[in-house]
Amino acid sequence: PPTPALSESLSADALVVGAGYTGLCAALHLAEAGASVCVLDAHAPGWGASGRNGGQVNPTLRQDPDELLRRYGAERAEALVATVSRSADLVYGLIQRHAIACDPVRAGWLQLGYTPQAVDALHARARQWERRGVRVEL
Ligand SMILES: Cc1cc2nc3c(=O)[nH]c(=O)nc-3n(C[C@H](O)[C@H](O)[C@H](O)COP(=O)(O)OP(=O)(O)OC[C@H]3O[C@@H](n4cnc5c(N)ncnc54)[C@H](O)[C@@H]3O)c2cc1C
Repeated sequence: PPTPALSESLSADALVVGAGYTGLCAALHLAEAGASVCVLDAHAPGWGASGRNGGQVNPTLRQDPDELLRRYGAERAEALVATVSRSADLVYGLIQRHAIACDPVRAGWLQLGYTPQAVDALHARARQWERRGVRVEL
């Protein structure tokens, strides 16, 4: 869409700086809740990582759940893990609800280990997610 530079003062309930996935998702949810929202980006929507990534919907963070637990304590870590484990639902839900033309494919998340150590780590990761109710096949 056309995204002209902001050239005049305006008033809004919320100002979002950055039109990547994070900013646009926040703006969308605020707008859906009835707020007037202005999104500003120094370049253009999708200019940052959101317009350059591999397009894989990875429902995880870099750290495994037990590591998050160690770093942030049970309450914060489990809340984070629960949010992350549902994150693909949010993404595919938005695609469906807004008919976003992006050829979505939802076929699970595949991880490969090519050394014994990597395979051990995958087993540990699988157990951690299984304990939290995520369907995992080894
Ligand atoms: C090469 C690559 C591959 C990736 N592959 C995947 C993948 O397959 N799957 C996956 O889940 N994740 C992947 N990621 C990560 C994912 O793309 C990012 O986590 C996500 O896009 C971050 O979104 P964001 O909105 O937080 O940031 P960004 O998309 O980077 O958006 C930030 C926006 O803020 C604007 N901005 C910054 N500073 C200012 C300022 N001061 N004033 C105004 N505007 C400003 C920028 O112009 C930019 O548009 C990949 C990342 C990269 C780089």
